[in-house]
Amino acid sequence: MEETRTKIICTIGPASSSVSMLVRMINAGMRVARLNFSHGDHPSHAALIKTVRAAARKAGQTVAILQDLQGPKIRVGELPAKGVILHKAEKIILTTSLVAYKTGGAIPVTYASLHRDVKVGHRLLFDDGTIEVVVEKVRGHNITAKVKVPGVLTSHKGLNLPDSMVGEASFTPKDREDLLFGVSQGVDWVALSFVSCADDIITARSVAKSAAKAAGVPVPLFFAKVERRTALDNFPEILAAADGILLGRGDLGVEVRPEEVPEIQKDIVEACRQAGKPVVVATQMLNSMVTNPRGTRAEISDVANAVFDHTDAVMLSAESATGRYPAVTVAAMTAVIREAEKSRYDDIHHVSLRVPDVAEALAQSVHVLAASGLISAIVVVAGQGVVAQQINMFRPDVPVFMVCPDESTARRAIVASGIIPLIMADSPGTLISRLQTKIHHDKLVRRGSQIAVVISNGAEIKLSIVHV
Ligand code: PEP
Repeated sequence: MEETRTKIICTIGPASSSVSMLVRMINAGMRVARLNFSHGDHPSHAALIKTVRAAARKAGQTVAILQDLQGPKIRVGELPAKGVILHKAEKIILTTSLVAYKTGGAIPVTYASLHRDVKVGHRLLFDDGTIEVVVEKVRGHNITAKVKVPGVLTSHKGLNLPDSMVGEASFTPKDREDLLFGVSQGVDWVALSFVSCADDIITARSVAKSAAKAAGVPVPLFFAKVERRTALDNFPEILAAADGILLGRGDLGVEVRPEEVPEIQKDIVEACRQAGKPVVVATQMLNSMVTNPRGTRAEISDVANAVFDHTDAVMLSAESATGRYPAVTVAAMTAVIREAEKSRYDDIHHVSLRVPDVAEALAQSVHVLAASGLISAIVVVAGQGVVAQQINMFRPDVPVFMVCPDESTARRAIVASGIIPLIMADSPGTLISRLQTKIHHDKLVRRGSQIAVVISNGAEIKLSIVHV
């Protein structure tokens, strides 16, 4: 199967935790397995990591593991099995002093400082914003609120506070424990939830660095999940501190008005592309495929539009974790991506006559060569970062092979748009001849075509056009 440029990330769960299902998903196009640390315990995640690695080996494909940390997700506590009905205009009490509900009493919430962070008039949104209450009074640990949008509230549903400044750090003690576990397991990427500022990423990265050093394993790379208004306000510093951005449209669409999300998606994907950092568009992309074997036209359009926005990756959540058709959904996503990538709407036409540096001029030349059909592939070497990132900024229509010295480097690289890792030593003197041999042996490009090979060593950047 010819690789698509846009990568597919699949959340792994009960529907996709066998080697056979994972092999089907990998063969259908999954390149990153996301483990959601809002669910499960360390032994179950360790077993899943083993299973994903076994499936990747069986499929003969590089597959990255993304550990998604829970972050300070606020939830309601234990409620009766049938839930609590919240009627319109009814006054309810939420409390931070209980964990379980007593009939007719206050509704418990998991965040101990909620009463300190909310003010009169603030909205509280439950269950992805389907139920809304407005704060009327705060007394001690109790918050009195009036129901604006009614519904049935059940145990452990999420609670979003779009108007409040949440005091809790985004990197929680549970996240720290989970991150230490993830590093010990050699996860490739980590996603930090509900990031508010650059410090959230800096703190987590320093924890990961010392743990990785102690264990003698590589430090994972970090996605900052943008899913709060404050993350939008501090986006430039977050982008500078993170290795990539994951746009969590589920929570974001509750924290900001949902109709704001499409434009935010365009702005964020564009900013990441310009910065040369991978960006993921996530949540509800093919949601109806949780129960149906075909997506709706609107969902198909959403996936295609993310490709037209030039995202690096698209993500499946419940579709692949708990849905009835995980592999069918991945195949459907691949088909949409393939079609969208053939279209002119995903092409980048912008070429500038004034560039800030040689690397960008070179990246632009490679883009022109690819767009003109003069080369059938680009080869870059991992670790010679800037050039590869700048080439990728143009989302070239030909594969970008990245020479990676080992599996771990290959797994981190595969998250980015267009990158196909080639595991081989990069000794520059013999690289091109060894590349030619590998390209012929693995039939990576058409015989008789030309490829662009970009090698930089700090002192010089070399662009070679090689006949293969
Ligand atoms: C989201 O909110 O869109 C998201 C990806 O976060 P999670 O699924 O971890 O709640």
